[in-house]
Amino acid sequence: GTENTDTDDTDAHNIDADADANANANANANANAETETDNTETLSNLLRENRRFPPPPELADQANVTESAYATADADREAFWAAQAARLHWDQPWTQILDWSDKPFARWFVGGTLNAAHNCVDRHVEAGNGDRVAIHFEGEPGDSRSLTYAELKTEVCKAANALTSLGIAAGDRVAIYMPMIPETAVAMLACARIGAVHSVCFAAFSPEALRGRIEDAGARLLITADGYHRRGSVVNLKANADEAAGASPSIEKVLVVRRTGHEVAWDDARDVWWHDLVDSQSGEHTAVGLDAEHPLFILYTSGTTGKPKGILHTTGGYLTQASYTHHAVFDLKPETDVYWCTADVGWVTGHSYIVYGPLSNGATEVMYEGTPDTPHQGRFWEIVQKYKVTLLYTAPTAIRTFMKWGSALPAKFDLSSLRLLGSVGEPINPEAWIWYRENIGGGRTPVVDTWWQTETGAIMISPLPGVTEAKPGSAMRPLPGISATVVDKGGTPVPNGGGGYLVLDKPWPSMLRGIWGDPKRFVDTYWSRFAEQGYYFAGDGAKKDEDGDLWLLGRVDDIMLVSGHNISTTEVESALVSHPSVAEAAVVGAKDETTGQRIVAFVILRGGNEEHAELEETLREHVTKAIGPIAKPRQIIVVPELPKTRSGKIMRRLLRDVAEDRAIGDTTTLADSAVMELISAKLPHAE
Ligand code: ATP
Ligand code: MG
Repeated sequence: GTENTDTDDTDAHNIDADADANANANANANANAETETDNTETLSNLLRENRRFPPPPELADQANVTESAYATADADREAFWAAQAARLHWDQPWTQILDWSDKPFARWFVGGTLNAAHNCVDRHVEAGNGDRVAIHFEGEPGDSRSLTYAELKTEVCKAANALTSLGIAAGDRVAIYMPMIPETAVAMLACARIGAVHSVCFAAFSPEALRGRIEDAGARLLITADGYHRRGSVVNLKANADEAAGASPSIEKVLVVRRTGHEVAWDDARDVWWHDLVDSQSGEHTAVGLDAEHPLFILYTSGTTGKPKGILHTTGGYLTQASYTHHAVFDLKPETDVYWCTADVGWVTGHSYIVYGPLSNGATEVMYEGTPDTPHQGRFWEIVQKYKVTLLYTAPTAIRTFMKWGSALPAKFDLSSLRLLGSVGEPINPEAWIWYRENIGGGRTPVVDTWWQTETGAIMISPLPGVTEAKPGSAMRPLPGISATVVDKGGTPVPNGGGGYLVLDKPWPSMLRGIWGDPKRFVDTYWSRFAEQGYYFAGDGAKKDEDGDLWLLGRVDDIMLVSGHNISTTEVESALVSHPSVAEAAVVGAKDETTGQRIVAFVILRGGNEEHAELEETLREHVTKAIGPIAKPRQIIVVPELPKTRSGKIMRRLLRDVAEDRAIGDTTTLADSAVMELISAKLPHAE
């Protein structure tokens, strides 16, 4: 969904030079070693945020999860998770809730068996809800169709039979390279049903990115589509799939969904049409219970910082937490709510909060194929109005884009059905939070800022909408059953008011079980930094305010060191975005002989604001007022766009390259490579 705000797809061919990406990751690590002192004394403008938003009383009265959940979970964490696991159907009960004896390799619900597809589909049909809509699909050109749970069950069973007919069995890996269409969820669930491990590769990734992921996972089958609609034109996905499959010896068959109907190249020996094979299968299929630790999927992280890692998730613990958090954080009432997560299914948010979380809870959800500005910039709001969406989950990058487009647009639509808004992907600046609540949520809805990662599998830190008095910009506290803290570089928890590194100090059900094929990288990346304490190192900086609530500060790699002070990019960015003319800001620390680093800010203006001579000085003064002179950017550059990954995250290391006037590093995970030229052109260059 954050991917949905990409400006262009024309660069789909230049992603993933893994070697380069690796070199870059190392360079980053070295840069860190220099700048990472103790960031316990970062600035405190965020902590001066004093607006408070208690839950609406009607929501609090009927909330799925209430205050007591925290105490219940604290009293016995494992028993708490066992109770959440019992929300699912198990074919065989577990004999042990958690085996942590071989840490950091966890096993949850040991000995239990279950089937994820059965839990997401059959269970609801058996409970008499077969007629409930599971997915309202909205195509970009305006075509739409709705699938009930009974129809979804038939489709998943047929697809499972089709996979079996192709020789795919439990444990085999299947690559899925698909647009945002219902068959993508069907394909994932069909894999889960037979125990095949899916590896979804975002449709806008290049053939080379797909090839690398196929090779890493050793996938035997590739499921793709002829194409999809994007910004009014047809993307020929099959051509990319062909290029990747042709260079992938492990791929035996390519199963192709017809979405657009345009002419595609065809290899009779290898390619199979979905409508030929799947449609002719029986709609009956018996799902077998799989071990709780059976691999469910591999998903490569988005690569904001370096070479993508194949994050492995297994069945029982993952489904337990994806399902529980969706129920708790979105307060889903499956009979009446219409839920919409705008993420792409190729991102972990799509896995946990389009497929496994909502479907395991029997939700009715919207799935949208296209971009937010096709055919017009009010498309999202038109969809909310059309389906009477009640729960909306999107990303800060999208919210800031909407801010840039202006509040007149959403005001043209009836958004009164909305009762809860969510955010994920980056820290949300307090001003963007307020804009979202006011202009989309009509000033009524709670906003849940959810912190988590591909690696954590499900939401970890978030307000509970019926319990928490929210603070704009804060993810607040760990969910019931989750434990997180902020430590200094020696691993000692900081007191309230302090800042440092975010760590997870207790195992959780949906924790990654490893990096596919690379146990050493798993241990090195996440468990070596605070090995002595046994903490999971998340790689993000955070602060605890005086109440102990958590404020995420962005990646540890992005912390700046100016004249001996640690300054988080998030804080300076939030100060800039709090100025009425700024929609979005990205801040980096560029090398400076006297101060160590100097702050360079890149800003996008809100709709209706023009660049003018005094703007830079105005914004510098604004930051000084909000934070203090130490955080005043040396340079402020107005840009039309910022470099973002395909999951919508700002790639600050590229901006650092521009600010330091050196060759721009690896841009292979960038959504739109042309952006860097636009930005470079705005800067004076050294001779
Ligand atoms: P890579 O690990 O390959 O560099 P990535 O970290 O961008 O990629 P994801 O797992 O999709 O891949 O993103 C998780 C990260 O996103 C978190 O570590 C954090 O930096 C950021 N993030 C997600 N949600 C939030 C949030 N609510 N507040 C602050 N940061 C968030
Ligand atoms: Mg990450």
